[in-house]
Amino acid sequence: MAFSGKTKLLAKIKSAFRCCICHDPFVEVHHIVPQAYGGDDTLDNAAPLCSSCHDLYGGNPEKQKIIRQMRDYWWQTMEERQRNLTNSTDLDEFTRIAGEENFKGPLHSQGIAIYHLVLQDDSFEVSVNHLHQQVLYAQQTFPGRKRLLYLDIDGHRSSDGGFDHDMFELQRHFLLGFLCPFLSELYMPLISVKTRKLQRNDNPEKLEVCTELNTEALNKAIDEGYSGIWVSDKDKWLEIE
Ligand SMILES: [Zn+2]
Repeated sequence: MAFSGKTKLLAKIKSAFRCCICHDPFVEVHHIVPQAYGGDDTLDNAAPLCSSCHDLYGGNPEKQKIIRQMRDYWWQTMEERQRNLTNSTDLDEFTRIAGEENFKGPLHSQGIAIYHLVLQDDSFEVSVNHLHQQVLYAQQTFPGRKRLLYLDIDGHRSSDGGFDHDMFELQRHFLLGFLCPFLSELYMPLISVKTRKLQRNDNPEKLEVCTELNTEALNKAIDEGYSGIWVSDKDKWLEIE
């Protein structure tokens, strides 16, 4: 047998769509006790893991205990996070993000909902790569479908209660300035927007963040066959011929 779709989704929601070992996005739900060893298809035996962690741990029965401990720890951490947001211990509240009014939109319109949680320790570069990979994956896996991005951010606050520089930059410049044309709707803590133009499907395969644009960065981009350079503070995409 295999996990039901509902069990898989619940396991992923409880993990905020992150690997319960390394906390990277892009997870599949695996059996903690493999089926060959009598593992069942219950939520208790389900662990969302990224492919790297699955390769390391998946088939090794001795590590089942560790996986379960790490899974329980991560689920608890995410549950506490949600409880702090909603002041509730009800599990229904835990799925509220996915059940919000606007989250139903993509289900009716056959759009693809992309949910991403930026963790407190994620840097700007890491977050840029996670978001870019997820949008690209949705584009390649479901071509032509409307993409709706839902962004959550933990921590990253400045002393005055606003976002720190990295997360302001991520929302204002990277998402609105660069990634927006490849999406139809964008729901961020700072602002939610629908794009007026038709969603583009030519999101570049590779994206590398450099902190300053200089000759070295430009030469590297040309050498490695990049199609362009996006300059964040100018909201500009410079094509490389
Ligand atoms: Zn992992």
